[in-house]
Amino acid sequence: MTSERAACAEIDLSAIEHNVRSLDALTPAGTLFMAVVKAEGYGHGAVESAHAALRAGADRLGVATVGEATCLREAGISVPLQVLSEPPLESVETLIEHDIIPAVTTRAFAAALGRAASAHGVEVRYHLKIDTGMNRIGVRAEDAPGFAAGLAEFPGLLMEGLFTHFATADVPGDWGFESQIERFTQAIERIRDEGVDPGIVHSCNSAATILHPEAHMGMVRCGIAIYGLHPSQATRELVDLRPAMRVTGRIVLVKRVAMGEGVSYGLIWRAAAPTVIATLPLGYADGVHRVLSGSMYVLIDGRRCKQVGRICMDQLMVEVPRTVAAAEGDEAVIVGSQGEETILLDELAELAGTINYEMACAFGMRLPREYV
Ligand SMILES: *Cc1c(COP(=O)(O)O)cnc(C)c1O
Repeated sequence: MTSERAACAEIDLSAIEHNVRSLDALTPAGTLFMAVVKAEGYGHGAVESAHAALRAGADRLGVATVGEATCLREAGISVPLQVLSEPPLESVETLIEHDIIPAVTTRAFAAALGRAASAHGVEVRYHLKIDTGMNRIGVRAEDAPGFAAGLAEFPGLLMEGLFTHFATADVPGDWGFESQIERFTQAIERIRDEGVDPGIVHSCNSAATILHPEAHMGMVRCGIAIYGLHPSQATRELVDLRPAMRVTGRIVLVKRVAMGEGVSYGLIWRAAAPTVIATLPLGYADGVHRVLSGSMYVLIDGRRCKQVGRICMDQLMVEVPRTVAAAEGDEAVIVGSQGEETILLDELAELAGTINYEMACAFGMRLPREYV
């Protein structure tokens, strides 16, 4: 471990660059590439991940909130920035001030944005979000043509693009996906028929970018895959991604416990024989979900060691087999490689009953990030 820190998330920015290049290479020349860096870059750090993605050729960035977008602007990032959902009405001044492109899904927001734009004497770009079947956010596909035409009355508004989001892009051959594509295509045709130029049309998240080239259209929006994590088993064979996050902690204590002694809250785990226990300085507040207690492994000395006892907020304990060398100060690996062994984030996600997305975000909560 290279830092003074007891535990950290090491982020390999060259992996993010590699992943962006690999994904971008799947799309035809001229297809824009949006790197999605919401939620602090899925736990990898938004500003650093954004810079890495832009170095590798990303054209613009996507985020979830206005606050995330202003952070990127304040870090000196000047490329187009899109907020992927409609922000609160109160944010229109901030959007204009920082040149942030919101998604629009309601007429009330569009009106407020248009009024503010006119008051400033500027034209504000937005992307119309169309709901084609996920039933989360967006103007319903059948209402979209009328809605888009209705926004033409606001002189300060420019529809730079329109988009939808798939519910099942990660499941090859899913009929729900086919039906969403069809509704989206029809909505775009009808919008054109209304005399409205749809601009940049986009629909693909990482899974669709990899699995559905027919849906690439004007731009793809990749999040999880730029961090080297696969959105689905089905994408593993199709694109070469390198995980960008490695999570490590230094052993803070090595001790022997006698047969029958318990470890951690509740003393739920008890030593069946005299056992060496190593304590690591990270816990569920750092993203090692408590539900992983007793089922996950940690790498020490290049070997898999079983985590034992309940995972605490700030610490966890590991059983060190006799053949494994463990000393205070040694590096233990929660996610990543050590020696010949590797623990993928996906392995922890599966054990925790969740997806790699949530696991990565969780490691972004408190662990200091170190860029390598
Ligand atoms: C988060 C998000 C993405 C990125 O999805 P990944 O599966 O991480 O690639 C794309 N589009 C929208 C609208 C999103 O909210």
